Amino acid sequence: MHVVQTVSEVRRIRRELTGSWGLVPTMGYLHEGHLSLVRRARVENDHVGVSIFVNPTQFGPNEDLDTYPRDLERDLSLLRELNVDLVWAPPVEEVYPPGFQTYVTVEEVSKPLEGAARPGHFRGVATIVAKLFNIFQPDRAYFGQKDAQQVVVIRQMVRDLNFPLEVVVCPTVREPDGLAMSSRNVYLTPEQRAAAPVLYKALCAARDAWKAGEHDGEQLRRIMRSVLDAEPLAQTEYVSAADPTTLVELGDASRGVLLSMAVRIGKARLIDNMLLLPKE
Ligand code: AMP
Repeated sequence: MHVVQTVSEVRRIRRELTGSWGLVPTMGYLHEGHLSLVRRARVENDHVGVSIFVNPTQFGPNEDLDTYPRDLERDLSLLRELNVDLVWAPPVEEVYPPGFQTYVTVEEVSKPLEGAARPGHFRGVATIVAKLFNIFQPDRAYFGQKDAQQVVVIRQMVRDLNFPLEVVVCPTVREPDGLAMSSRNVYLTPEQRAAAPVLYKALCAARDAWKAGEHDGEQLRRIMRSVLDAEPLAQTEYVSAADPTTLVELGDASRGVLLSMAVRIGKARLIDNMLLLPKE
């Protein structure tokens, strides 16, 4: 496994190893969610590249950039076991050298939900992902459904800017009690960790109602909010029942809906979602 820091080394290895390439962008501190993306990429491509970079431009000024968990050695040993070909773990100056001034803004789908709660977040995400696509030139890029709006933003960017690659979306990997795996789950105390499956419970309650015929978006949001409100350690930032492609809040959710939420539990800001689509 090649482990490199510079753009030029990535480009050299990319040229030397012919055949198809899958790319898995990450911020490190890897868990089973990340590894599921890597395994899928391993099956579908001749070569697999993984980036490990805590991208400062996607963090707001009062967010957790400085405390974001990191363990490069552990990450590398996990990726070695999965036969990854190339890991790029650059320092910040390699990605954003002095004088850097070009950003990618995906307009409408970046505005609601996470975009409203975290101004500038998706500008940072779209910029780093566009750079990764240009540097690795992958045939396929792998993302998790866990970050549903990120997937919508990246798909839009790929369409609009004609990136010649396939975006592959992998299902959310959960702990046995339903909590979506996240590097940020380490911020939870044991008591908070016990409360954290409330996000999944709220999503399941709305899903069950939708399957039973409740297709009013407002009612679905109310159901999620009431489950979250019953957990004293959870502070809800937003709940949403939105159109899966435009992310506009729905009145009528009969033709499919993306349920999503952001909830603070102690120091952790947790997000989760569920995509409901009608059968044919
Ligand atoms: P991150 O390191 O948090 O930026 O995540 C890197 C990639 O892994 C993103 O595409 C995430 O959506 C994906 N990911 C994170 N957590 C999960 C999870 N629990 N299940 C599936 N994919 C995930």
